[in-house]
Amino acid sequence: GIEKLNKLKSENISVVVKDFYRKPLVIHQGHMQWLFDHEGKRYLDLFAGIVTVSVGHCHPTVTAALHQQIDTLWHTTSIYKHPKIYEYVEKLSAKFPGDLKVVYLVNSGSEANDLAILLARAYTGNHDVISLQSCYHGYASSLLGLTATQAYRFPMAAPSGFYHAMLPDPLRGIWGGCRDSFSQVPGACSCPGDCVTSDKYIHQLNELLENSVPKGRIAAFFAETIQGVNGAVQFPKGYLRKARELVKNYGGLYVADEVQTGFGRTGDNFWGFQDHGIQPDIVTLAKGIGNGFPLAAVVTTKEIADAHQKASYFNTFGGNPLAASVGKAVLDVIEEENIQQNSKIVGKYFIEQLMELQKSYPVIGDVRGKGLMLGVELVRPGTKDPLEVIGVADILEMAKDLGVMIGRGGRWNNVLRIKPPMCINKEDVDFAITVMDKVFKVFHE
Ligand code: PMP
Repeated sequence: GIEKLNKLKSENISVVVKDFYRKPLVIHQGHMQWLFDHEGKRYLDLFAGIVTVSVGHCHPTVTAALHQQIDTLWHTTSIYKHPKIYEYVEKLSAKFPGDLKVVYLVNSGSEANDLAILLARAYTGNHDVISLQSCYHGYASSLLGLTATQAYRFPMAAPSGFYHAMLPDPLRGIWGGCRDSFSQVPGACSCPGDCVTSDKYIHQLNELLENSVPKGRIAAFFAETIQGVNGAVQFPKGYLRKARELVKNYGGLYVADEVQTGFGRTGDNFWGFQDHGIQPDIVTLAKGIGNGFPLAAVVTTKEIADAHQKASYFNTFGGNPLAASVGKAVLDVIEEENIQQNSKIVGKYFIEQLMELQKSYPVIGDVRGKGLMLGVELVRPGTKDPLEVIGVADILEMAKDLGVMIGRGGRWNNVLRIKPPMCINKEDVDFAITVMDKVFKVFHE
C-alpha cells in the first residue's frame, strides 16, 4: 500500500529526491499517451516522464523489438561486434545532416554531455566552456559547472572553467526581444532579418569571451535550441547562429543539446538546430531516443572524433543490444507513424488553444514553444511577477486530480511544461484544455 511506499521512501531514499505531487501518486501502467494509477484511474500524460516517452508508453512496435532481443542476447559491451548496434548506428547517423556521422552510444543525457565536453577539449586543446544562464545539461560533478539551474548546484562542488552567458530570454531578459521566426506564436518576431535584440546578447557573449574567459581557452559553447527545464524559452531570431559563429572565431565548438528538442519534437524539423539553420560540431541525445529505455548518444564529425584517438573509449552498457534494438524501433515508429508531422500539427493546435485560454485568465502570463515542446508561464494576475510556488502546485494538483498530468519548470518554477508523448491527438488536446479551463476558473474564483 501507499503507507508502505511512503515509509520506504522516507527511510531508504534520500530527501533530495523530490516527489512531484503532494498527494501520493503511484503509477502502475502506461499505454501510449495514458498512465494508470494503482486504482486504475487514467491520466493524460503531458510530461512523458520528463520528455522521455517520445512515441508512447509501451508502444507495441518498440515493446515487440525489446521482447525479441530479450530472448536472444542482452549484453556484449562495445568491445565485441553486434549486428543490432551497427544497424542502429547506421540508421541514427543517417538522420544527421552534413558530416555529423560518428556516434558514441551512452546511457544518459548527463553522460552524453560529459563526453561532449571531453571531445571538445580533446579537439580544440582548450578547456573552458560557456553555457547559458538557467540551463540544465545534467547532473554529474563535471556538469555542476555546465548546468546553471541553481536548484541543482552544490555551492562547494562547481568545477572551474565554466561560464554562463546572459540568457537571451524575450520575456525576462534585460533586453527583451522577439522569439525566433520559427515560433508558432503569432508576431513572434517582426524584425526584418535577425531580431535586433539578438545583437545585444551577442555583444555580452563577446564581452565574456574577450574579458572573462582567458585568451585561447574556449573549448565549447553549449545550448539547447529551446530551453527545456527552464520552461520552453525560445531565443531571439539569429542568436544561436551568431553565437555559434562568434565562439568559432575564438576557437570553440558548438554543442547542441538535443536531449529534449530532438526526434521531431519541435515539429518542423527532426532536430531543433535545423530550425535555426545551423550545423553543430557535436550533438547530444538522450530521453526521447529510447522512449524510456536507458539510451543516449553523442554524435560528431570524424575529424573531431579522431582527435580523441590518443585514448581508447570504453562504455560497459552504452548501446547494448537491448538499447540498440529499442533505439532502432523508436526511429522506425517515428518514420512509419509520421510522428514529426503529428508534433507539428497537434502542437500548433495545442498552442492556439492555450492562447485562447490565456485571453480569459490573467494568471497565464505567457504561452510559448513550438511543436510539442510548449510552456505556459504563470504570473501574479496583472503583473509580470512569477506566480508563487504554492499557487502553481495547486494548479498542477487540481489538473492531476481531473486526469491531466502537466510538467513544471522555469527559474521560478512557475512554468507549466507541456511535452507529451508525440502520439497525442487533437481530442486529447481538447480534453487537456477543458481540464485546464476548469482549473484556472477555480483558481481565479
Ligand atoms: N540535457 C537536457 C537538456 C536535459 O533536460 C537533461 C535532463 N533533464 C539532461 C541533459 C540530462 O539527462 P539525464 O537526466 O538523462 O542525465
